[in-house]
Amino acid sequence: MLHRSCSPSRDAMSSWVPSWSLMQMIRVGPAHTLVPEACFRVWHPRCLLRCSAETPGVAMAVKRPVRVLVDMDGVLADFESGLLQGFRRRFPGEPHVPLEQRRGFLASEQYGALRPDLAEKVASVYEAPGFFLNLEPIPGALDALREMNAMQDTDVFICTTPLRKYDHCVGEKYRWVEQNLGPQFVERIILTRDKTVVMGDLLIDDKDNIQGLEETPSWEHILFTCCHNQHLALPPTRRRLLSWSDDWRGIIESKRASL
Ligand SMILES: [Mg+2]
Repeated sequence: MLHRSCSPSRDAMSSWVPSWSLMQMIRVGPAHTLVPEACFRVWHPRCLLRCSAETPGVAMAVKRPVRVLVDMDGVLADFESGLLQGFRRRFPGEPHVPLEQRRGFLASEQYGALRPDLAEKVASVYEAPGFFLNLEPIPGALDALREMNAMQDTDVFICTTPLRKYDHCVGEKYRWVEQNLGPQFVERIILTRDKTVVMGDLLIDDKDNIQGLEETPSWEHILFTCCHNQHLALPPTRRRLLSWSDDWRGIIESKRASL
């Protein structure tokens, strides 16, 4: 019996079906004519199956698009520079941490180590209205993302974690994307506190240690170099992107070749 995902509806063309349906599709006999363009994806990280009138009853494995998840703060938007400028403007008499001395993902921890009350002060800067909206883009990030999004067989999503105090952060992240990249990228925002449960092939992110419910995420983490992680020595199995001038295209193509 023909699985309903082979119906010619637009929904079916883009539907994801569980892997057991793969077996059903393979059993579809030559007597069945599958409509042209009717295609479906199997929930399997390695392949996409396509059925067509030219190959009735035959499911062909073809390479699927590379899915790239791109972090926002520290990768697209210059969080660290914005934070330092905001802190010095708001607390001009207080000690600060120059970017070249930043260590550790959380600025609040480093400021807190400098003096305990500074943790709250630095947090008040990034929790304030307007902070996220007014961040400058990381050099080259906008052009790179547009080019990446235009690459054939490449799906790009912006995967970003909101603050726990999300009052201003969430809306401003959406507005930042719309203002800097356009409304089509707003459709590509994934907002989550746990990136390990998001399916993807690559995650370009400046956080050095990304953990969550999923112990073995589907993506390869590409560490995007930022002031707070540049001193870290990565094991040979892990890859870095030094900046958007670095070879991000090569990383995508190498991942594509491995699918
Ligand atoms: Mg980040």
